Amino acid sequence: MDKPTNNNFITNIIDNDNNTNKFGGRVNTRFPPEPNGYLHIGHAKSICLNFEIAKNYKGTCNLRFDDTNPEKENAEFIKSIKDDIAWLGYKWDSIHYASDYFDQLYSFAQKLIKENYAYVDASTPEKIKEERGTLTEPGIKSKDRNRPAEESLELFDKMKKGFFEDGEYVLRLKIDMSSPNLNLRDPIIYRIKKLTHHRTGDDWCIYPMYDFTHCISDAIENITHSLCTLEFEDHRNLYEWIIEKINHKNRPQQIEFARLSIEHNLMSKRKLSELVERNFVKGWDDPRMPTISGMKRRGYTPNSIKDFCSRIGITKKNSFIEMGVLENTIREELNISANRIMGVLDPIEINITNYPENTTENIVAPYNPNTENSKKRNISISKKVYIDRDDFMEHPDKKYFRLSLGKEVRLRHAFNIKCEKVIKDKNGNIVSLDCTYDPKSRDMKKGNKVKGMIHWVDANNCIDAQINIYDRLFKNSNPSSLDDFNDKSLKIKKNAKIENNLDVKDINARYQFERVGYFFKDKNSTNENIIYNKIVSLKDSWKKINKKGD
Ligand code: ATP
Ligand code: MG
Repeated sequence: MDKPTNNNFITNIIDNDNNTNKFGGRVNTRFPPEPNGYLHIGHAKSICLNFEIAKNYKGTCNLRFDDTNPEKENAEFIKSIKDDIAWLGYKWDSIHYASDYFDQLYSFAQKLIKENYAYVDASTPEKIKEERGTLTEPGIKSKDRNRPAEESLELFDKMKKGFFEDGEYVLRLKIDMSSPNLNLRDPIIYRIKKLTHHRTGDDWCIYPMYDFTHCISDAIENITHSLCTLEFEDHRNLYEWIIEKINHKNRPQQIEFARLSIEHNLMSKRKLSELVERNFVKGWDDPRMPTISGMKRRGYTPNSIKDFCSRIGITKKNSFIEMGVLENTIREELNISANRIMGVLDPIEINITNYPENTTENIVAPYNPNTENSKKRNISISKKVYIDRDDFMEHPDKKYFRLSLGKEVRLRHAFNIKCEKVIKDKNGNIVSLDCTYDPKSRDMKKGNKVKGMIHWVDANNCIDAQINIYDRLFKNSNPSSLDDFNDKSLKIKKNAKIENNLDVKDINARYQFERVGYFFKDKNSTNENIIYNKIVSLKDSWKKINKKGD
């Protein structure tokens, strides 16, 4: 696999830093998730970038939980994040929590107050917002901006000790209320939140803001290159201002790259958590979700995800990636690695009227025609088989080459059959088909030349399964809210019939159901109720749909 970090503008910067000995040749990165949800494929891009850079430059990559907002953070999310990174195959050099630095952060804040770089403000949140100004108008200095350092220190101490209620006071940096960069207009760095933290319990009732915490955590961990997404570009001045003013000996460098966005998906933990909480999907690992755990459950492999991240590359330009790019990576991998079997998702029964009673014959076929010396599988066939409802049309148009009344088609790996009679129930629904077969067509050269070949399974020797078929999570390519949710994103085929070569005990096996797609066992599958998820179709079917103007 290509290295996901090969030759991008960030590695150019690192190469340059190494040439000028900026960090003494060190390369230390970190992946800093907030534990307020499960990781998604966008995070995978950042994980691959940070961990691969560390690996390629023989540096280190830390995992750091940015846990400064107790409201939405919890231990379940921490566990899932660790599990997902490990599943992708990465090992962090050390693990940290921003909450481990609460004492240090507090001291740095005190230092800034003492040096007249920060003040405690009693303005209401509304007032602070109002005085912030706009892109075209400067902000207004708060009435508390010139509060003496002694007084601010005392108030800050009381904030910490719980004397005040949420919102009564905040600690703000004193930078520049008329800066064209709004982030420099005296940003808030501490607020009161009387909430229990999942790690520090009730030790604190004031919590530092992201912008204050992040740069200092990077400096404490001696990070060299702090890689983040483009929306933090406007925060870089603040990042550098804080590091300079606390006079830290380490000076990490923030570098921004483009976020990953994929069509028909939303890449935000907040919005994904809404899908979960409002029961649009069945949990964070629902196979439709763009979460790492959802993709894992659906059947994506760690390599396919890393390969995808490598293909999309690292740039400074935000753009949408087509779903097809993601799907192609797993499709290409499985085309090489997956065993082939046959599966009928929506069965119609076929009686082969001229086939002998109580007879089963054995057909030998390769498990994977792409591998030399592929192991062979034995497929049975008898008088009764199932084919997919899609593969029969009573009154077809000219271009339909599958089975229709009076026409002949080939059963893959077996022989030709001809449909003689359609049997329907009283409502006119097709119940079964009577067909005849041509024994000499076992040798393909000897039977009639037919244009169509369809898959099937032996009705007397097959496995019953439920198959889940997934479609795009959102109807629109650029969804704006949950209103765009695709309520047809899950289709369940309850009566699927699978060739008796499906190894339900093999938890890693991914199968190609010939002519249909790639499939992987769902975590809820049991011996009594076998469930498989469709990972991806054999071809990029969405392109076709798009062309139709759908
Ligand atoms: P979300 O809105 O999904 O919570 P976030 O940026 O708030 O995203 P964090 O947990 O703070 O999530 O992200 C951890 C790291 O992953 C950050 O460095 C962030 O820049 C990066 N990241 C998050 N989303 C993406 C994305 N779509 N593409 C690339 N990197 C991302
Ligand atoms: Mg965040």
